[in-house]
Amino acid sequence: MRIVCLEQGGWVKSSEFPTTGRDFEQRKFTDYSTSPNVRKSPADYPINDENSPIKIVNFNGVGGATVMYTAHFPRLHPSDFRTRSLDGVGEDWPIDYQTLEPYYALNDRMMGVSGLAGDPAYPAHQPPMPPLPLGRSGQQIAKAINKLGWHWWPSETTIATAPYEGRAPCINLGQCTPGCAQGAKASTDITYWPQAIRAGVELRTHCRVREITVGPDGMATGAIYYDAQGKEQFQPAEVVILACNGVGTARLLLNSRSTRFPDGLANSSGLVGKNLMLHPFAAVTGYVNEPMDGHTGPTMCLWSQEFYETDHRRGFVRGFNFQFNRGLGVGTEAVETVAHSFVPWGDGHHDAFRSLVGRSFRIAICAEDLPEEHNRVTLDPVLKDDHGIPAPRIDYRIGDNTNRMLDFAIARGREILAAAGAHHLTEIRTVTNGGWHLLGTARMGTDPSRSVVNEWGRSHDVRNLFIVDGSIFVTSGGVNPTSTIQALALYIADQMKQRLATLFD
Ligand SMILES: Cc1cc2nc3c(=O)[nH]c(=O)nc-3n(C[C@H](O)[C@H](O)[C@H](O)COP(=O)(O)OP(=O)(O)OC[C@H]3O[C@@H](n4cnc5c(N)ncnc54)[C@H](O)[C@@H]3O)c2cc1C
Repeated sequence: MRIVCLEQGGWVKSSEFPTTGRDFEQRKFTDYSTSPNVRKSPADYPINDENSPIKIVNFNGVGGATVMYTAHFPRLHPSDFRTRSLDGVGEDWPIDYQTLEPYYALNDRMMGVSGLAGDPAYPAHQPPMPPLPLGRSGQQIAKAINKLGWHWWPSETTIATAPYEGRAPCINLGQCTPGCAQGAKASTDITYWPQAIRAGVELRTHCRVREITVGPDGMATGAIYYDAQGKEQFQPAEVVILACNGVGTARLLLNSRSTRFPDGLANSSGLVGKNLMLHPFAAVTGYVNEPMDGHTGPTMCLWSQEFYETDHRRGFVRGFNFQFNRGLGVGTEAVETVAHSFVPWGDGHHDAFRSLVGRSFRIAICAEDLPEEHNRVTLDPVLKDDHGIPAPRIDYRIGDNTNRMLDFAIARGREILAAAGAHHLTEIRTVTNGGWHLLGTARMGTDPSRSVVNEWGRSHDVRNLFIVDGSIFVTSGGVNPTSTIQALALYIADQMKQRLATLFD
């Protein structure tokens, strides 16, 4: 096959990542902000998310948001694929955990996952590398959860704990999110892309796709894009595959209007852009009296899935994942402790700050978000990117079930921190810049009136158009999605290969 990939951003240089300098915390608010509306780099497009309590964050460049992700790598649970049958909410997926299992395993090897086999929350599997060390703060939290008698397990992450396929192991540079200068964190620019390029895939950077074109027979004919010089180009194609994530893919489909598809490409169901799921994130933070390992180590090292499965006594269905975060950087601590009035100005300022800095830890809550059609991506009537392409607009509110789940989860998070001997507890009910999981806007299913792509990722309407990103999620689960996004992409690629002779039937 001859494959060309059009990517609107460029390659990133690890030598320029914030972790190589002392101003790494400050750069999270400027050129390495997770928000495209703050970063405003030439690769970014603006997003109108004013009508959403959760703002969209992403990264546009080779490797996509994996360059900036935290590398926490749980899988969905088998029950996540059957929420309608089990709990009467959402929809069942047209595939199940077992279908994806071999692709989860292949992806674990490709990305290099570290973890400990035997987690009772999951079907058995063997991560290729040992887990990240718990560290002082991880052990403190683990002991606290033991006191409560709840589940915890070392997190699976894509941070190398041993030399792995040319990647050096983690040396606790500490700030995984704005790029890992050590190369221990697996982002797809250093895992999948070198292999794809060696296999002959052509990657054209700084090429922003405006629309997918269709012929008189309703088949996709290719893509119109702006090249690095801003010149309009057309790339013909026999098969078009979209991987622009839950916001970018919906935007591109909605921007691809034609006489045959006046409401956007592949949108006969009217569901393109709808059912956006963002995983509301909450957090509870506390301080202890002894120094912890703070920000000197990967952010995540353990999770608890005690409350992941439905228990009707809790007043909501489905569940959430507790992910434990180590402390924050010194600068961020300074901002937070002052913001919460834990540290006075004037006399005693330094002493008070010294008694807290490096002694915090945080329980983050990743709550399952159910698909609701009013949560959606549309095209903004006014806002456009640098090429004049209509920008996405987000309309989103947190659902009632999720709100009840967040109340419950925050109360349990406080119990864990109290059991760990923490004081000065604070909570964030919704992390504002927490729209990092972008799911559901072109979901998969067997019924063309209730879904956008079929059970192997092909558009119901356009038989040579495929989608391989988080937009095809049917429900969100209560865990970070990238492991599942990648397993789905591998599964769909495999389906395409196996069905090549009859791909368009
Ligand atoms: C701060 C942060 C922390 C995160 N932490 C975690 C975590 O711990 N665990 C986890 O599982 N997930 C995490 N995520 C989410 C994770 O990064 C995404 O799920 C993952 O990157 C999705 O991969 P993708 O390739 O489908 O989409 P993306 O990574 O978003 O890549 C899409 C690519 O498409 C390109 N593109 C879009 N539109 C166009 C166009 N019109 N023309 C050309 N190119 C286009 C973009 O430039 C981008 O490079 C995090 C995300 C962020 C931002």
